[in-house]
Amino acid sequence: MTSALTTAPGFTGSLLDRVDAARHDAALVAAMRVDAQALLLCLDELRPSVGADGGLGWTALDTVANDVPLALLGRLDDRPRFVALTPGVSALRRSPELFAAITTLSPAEAGTYATARSLVDWHARHGFCPNCGHATDLFRAGWGRICPSCGAEHFPRVDPVVIMLAQHGEGAHARVLVGRQPGFPAGRYSALAGFLEPGESVEAAVARELHEEAGIRVHSVRYLASQPWPFPSQLMIACVALTDDDALVVDHSELEEAKWVTRDEVAAALAGDPAAPFLPPPAYAIAHTLFTRWLAEG
Ligand SMILES: [Zn+2]
Repeated sequence: MTSALTTAPGFTGSLLDRVDAARHDAALVAAMRVDAQALLLCLDELRPSVGADGGLGWTALDTVANDVPLALLGRLDDRPRFVALTPGVSALRRSPELFAAITTLSPAEAGTYATARSLVDWHARHGFCPNCGHATDLFRAGWGRICPSCGAEHFPRVDPVVIMLAQHGEGAHARVLVGRQPGFPAGRYSALAGFLEPGESVEAAVARELHEEAGIRVHSVRYLASQPWPFPSQLMIACVALTDDDALVVDHSELEEAKWVTRDEVAAALAGDPAAPFLPPPAYAIAHTLFTRWLAEG
């Protein structure tokens, strides 16, 4: 049986070898591109194509025209893996079909998909230099863009987000704070979350977000786990913080409602008990990992 502490967070554990050295060797990338073993990730717009085995779909690289820009994802099972960089895809919205497909992937396969999705999206939105406005060119096998006018180099960005449980009380009496946003499915509650701002540590961002959204002061912030979240390119940093005062002042511009739930209530929610006071986030979301690991700590 897999324990809660060894269950991988969603989108983590990809088996891709990212072959960073190849990104700096144009001749090697060119050889990989004509390698008969090379494969192209199958994407339907930005949705993954999931095979009967529950894995990602791949096709022979020679099915794609020579002038289609590609990013080198890396090597997997000793075969070069690429993704096509399709202009204009970043405007596509997330759909129930997308998340249904992700639910069928293992965390490791979802991690490979996350790498590709975030790269494709970043290229689609960074065709012009933020330094001088000139059109940019792809370089480093798709892991950057360079400006031919001012020489500036640009690299795919990752935006850090803190997601956290505030805990009040200890042991069997411990409760954690959950909240729901207006757009959540009926009954769903999750951990509170927010983007880090320039100049903040993870600990400071956790404390600020919990104070802004729920009016509580926390201390003893500790890190539990992280996951990439490719919509478009966040790093979710999951933490637990302690508070000595459970009085809430909810910011209703951010949250529809927030409430304290006990260990038994979190356990019931994760077990799918219809009597549970909330529906948990899906298994591929780090909030699910956060609840699971917090419970396992006892
Ligand atoms: Zn420039």
